[in-house]
Amino acid sequence: MASEGVRVAILGIAQDGGVPQAGCNCERCLEAQRDPVLRLYPSSIAIQGKEGGLHLIEATRDISQQIWMAATSFGNDIVSIPRTLCITHSHLGHIDGLGQFGKEAMGVDSIPLLVSSKVRNVVHSRDLGSPFDVKIVESNSPVVPSERCGFDYTMVPVPHRDEHSDTHAILIRGPARTMLFLPDHDSWSQTLGHYGAKDVKGWLRSLGVGIALIDGTFWDGDELPGRDMSQVPHPLVSETLEMIGCREEGDPEIYFIHLNHTNPLIDKESVQSTQVEEMGWGVARQSCVFEL
Ligand SMILES: [Zn+2]
Ligand SMILES: [Zn+2]
Repeated sequence: MASEGVRVAILGIAQDGGVPQAGCNCERCLEAQRDPVLRLYPSSIAIQGKEGGLHLIEATRDISQQIWMAATSFGNDIVSIPRTLCITHSHLGHIDGLGQFGKEAMGVDSIPLLVSSKVRNVVHSRDLGSPFDVKIVESNSPVVPSERCGFDYTMVPVPHRDEHSDTHAILIRGPARTMLFLPDHDSWSQTLGHYGAKDVKGWLRSLGVGIALIDGTFWDGDELPGRDMSQVPHPLVSETLEMIGCREEGDPEIYFIHLNHTNPLIDKESVQSTQVEEMGWGVARQSCVFEL
């Protein structure tokens, strides 16, 4: 079914482990074990193109529920098989739904899979490539994922612990607005340094971003007692807020995604969620829809 514009639905806002996280007995995870409404899927978005096709970013293990969430968010009562799939990097939480495209589940053939050449190598080395028509996307060059979809993707390289592949953020340029999907990167200093940008807002402006979904994995440095947080580097939300200050006229909209199960931003009523909102920013919530 063709639609008017290009719309994006938020299908997951958690870090790779989701909420509840396997084996976790924290209060939040136990509540989410008992009440499915509180469950959060790993970060993923779907774009409904002008041609009516569903274009998925990331293939998480919760893809079955997530493509249903895409359908309901866009006002449909049947699920669509994604017309294309695009992936930021090969950490497990972003690719462990790839097998669902194979004959055990969707059984598709030749769905365009848009990835960097290094992510392609990981997909092939794990023998997960057969349902796809793999299309290598070069960094920083716009590609149209499918005919008449009305938007394009640009893969923007970002520094992230790249054991297996490289990592990209994805710019989605629609008819009116451009969205940045940036679930993972190591630090603002490295990302901004890579682009010779002075500050976060200046970098987003240089990319033409109107809406940014950015890495909000941890609120602060006290979230993993007993674990070395340098092993899982991410910019802290508290530091990001210091860098971006309050929202001013002309600034893009910024929403945090990729939240660890320990992050107080998961709770809509927390002091931290209130602080983010009072500063003029937000936390993305599952099923929200944006118009591009
Ligand atoms: Zn991740
Ligand atoms: Zn937990």
